Amino acid sequence: MTERKCVGCGEIKNRDELIKITKEHATDSIVINGNSKIFGRSAYLCYNKSCIENALKKNKLQKILKTPISAELKGQLINEL
Ligand SMILES: [Zn+2]
Repeated sequence: MTERKCVGCGEIKNRDELIKITKEHATDSIVINGNSKIFGRSAYLCYNKSCIENALKKNKLQKILKTPISAELKGQLINEL
């Protein structure tokens, strides 16, 4: 079982219970729940609006992925819920 930590609340959960956000190394683009062929720096969030907002509000996601998080990406994350 693969466990990952949510950026929003800090809880450790099964990978399947988290949204994976990857900054693809090859293209520098952000991929949400990409397949195993996507390589890059990744962050994880619960399927939970408060975790998404917490991670964005404190710029945690931005710091982990080392890239600015656009309003468009925020909308995409909310759409995953
Ligand atoms: Zn969380």
